[in-house]
Amino acid sequence: MAASPNPTPAGGPLVEGPADPEHDPTAAYALEPDYVAGLTARLVATTGRTVAVTSPLDGAPLAHVPQSSEADVAEAFARARRAQAVWARVPVAERAAMLLRLHDLVLERQDEIIDLIVLESGKARKHAFDEPLHIALTARYYARTARQHLDTQRKRGVVPGLTRVEVNHVPKGVVGIISPWNYPFTMALCDGLPALLAGNAVVTKPDAQTMLTALLGARLLDEAGFPQDLWQVVAGPGRELGGPIIERSDYVCFTGSTATGKLIAAQCAERLIGCSLELGGKNPLLVLRDADLEKAAEGAVRASFSNAGQLCVSMERMYVADQVYDRFVERFVARTQAMTLGATLAWENDMGSLISQDQLDTVTAHVDDAVAKGARVLTGGRARPDLGPFYYEPTILEGVTPDMTCFGHETFGPVVSLYRFHDEADAVARANDGDYGLNASIYSQDGGRARAIARQVKCGTVNINEAFGATFASIDSPMGGMRESGMGRRQGSEGIHRYTESQSVATQRLVRFAPMLGMSDETYAKVMTANLRLMKKLGRA
Ligand code: NAD
Repeated sequence: MAASPNPTPAGGPLVEGPADPEHDPTAAYALEPDYVAGLTARLVATTGRTVAVTSPLDGAPLAHVPQSSEADVAEAFARARRAQAVWARVPVAERAAMLLRLHDLVLERQDEIIDLIVLESGKARKHAFDEPLHIALTARYYARTARQHLDTQRKRGVVPGLTRVEVNHVPKGVVGIISPWNYPFTMALCDGLPALLAGNAVVTKPDAQTMLTALLGARLLDEAGFPQDLWQVVAGPGRELGGPIIERSDYVCFTGSTATGKLIAAQCAERLIGCSLELGGKNPLLVLRDADLEKAAEGAVRASFSNAGQLCVSMERMYVADQVYDRFVERFVARTQAMTLGATLAWENDMGSLISQDQLDTVTAHVDDAVAKGARVLTGGRARPDLGPFYYEPTILEGVTPDMTCFGHETFGPVVSLYRFHDEADAVARANDGDYGLNASIYSQDGGRARAIARQVKCGTVNINEAFGATFASIDSPMGGMRESGMGRRQGSEGIHRYTESQSVATQRLVRFAPMLGMSDETYAKVMTANLRLMKKLGRA
């Protein structure tokens, strides 16, 4: 399984580094040992323990990743804190220039990045490309809007002309970032870029299954010119390193499951530090009766099967207007059956593998449970060990009912349930069912009507005539979840201001906020009351 925390094989390579065929007969060198050693050297990890990482494509060993202890986490924070003190004095324009260098590097080195993502995660190459793309977009956006977000702003003072107010955006300090395996390059980096730009240092703990991809991200930051100590990487199980990270962070950014998000929020609350939580979803897609059905069916395939459905914003429920249901389903099923499946590094695969046995077990359990309770499989519904150890076919279900696990629980795999609706109010009510509220999609040829419906949907992002890319790639707008799908937002001004403290500095001239010139308190109150009335008449805010 992919980078599951298998202990290093008995008698296996106890050195920090890649699988060594002398000690591990299954070693296949999918990656050059020197390349892997260069990446893992970037970790703060002195325990001498390693965890084997294997590729979900074929089970080939990729590396033995050194593991960090709590003392290593403390050391990473100490280094980050020292680096941050210097970094906070580096002009914002210089920081932004490094982000633009990162943009260029990520595009130039995309083949290397994508190869590693595919090897480590098993996803299709076309879905891996989305990751350098998202990082390039994020780097360019924040570099080009740095001053808009970070410059000191003048605000209206209480006494016009006599109270001068400025708001500074002061960095929080050291940000802890805990990230998942599903988009291992962009999830490891994208939230950290605005943190660095705002003057913070970062300590990251990427998921164990995709550590090498995250380490390549760290190396590219070094190459873009960011001081090395500013970006620390530690490795180990979240339940062991999570606490030590949260204890030392000035802010925590977490992406992962809702269950873990709640644990993290509670620990941050204990310390009264802020956190942003990007969590799970059970995302609905609505096909209205006036939708372009070809476009809707094409979008539905990407919506549900990108990265084999292991995507937080992926669609697992579709509500389709009665009048077009049969025609939509026919198109959607035909497009799904035409998908090219393969667990290889090639571009032509439309869908890759799941990442691990755990993921395969969950997907299999959800589908088997639904089928046992009477759901119909329109296509898919089975594992494909002939393609790869964790391969599961893209699956469309009909007749899913509330007693089935996949009705309301996130599958996080290539499984979608179809439902008919008779009137739009009912469709919106069903889309709003449940505890999640991450992403929704609406297909309609009437943009105004679709936007009106979007306002009634309780999701942090709504894409009209697109699955998820329109909001996800529009970095100027916030992205995140309502309800149990999260707290706070990445992207846009919210995505960078979460890493700063707003500091108001007011300079007062001539008048003071107390009676002057021998005035009594009572007279002062009358003067102030008259003043307040005048200000309202003058239209002042
Ligand atoms: P997970 O919560 O198990 O793990 C995510 C990260 O948290 C990993 O790095 C893990 O090591 C760490 N972790 C685990 N337990 C921890 C603990 N007790 N304390 C601190 N850290 C801990 O999530 P997962 O199941 O691996 O990832 C899939 C989930 O992530 C899905 O629910 C998916 O929807 C969600 N996700 C959300 C977004 C988003 O932007 N909203 C993006 C990607 C994934």
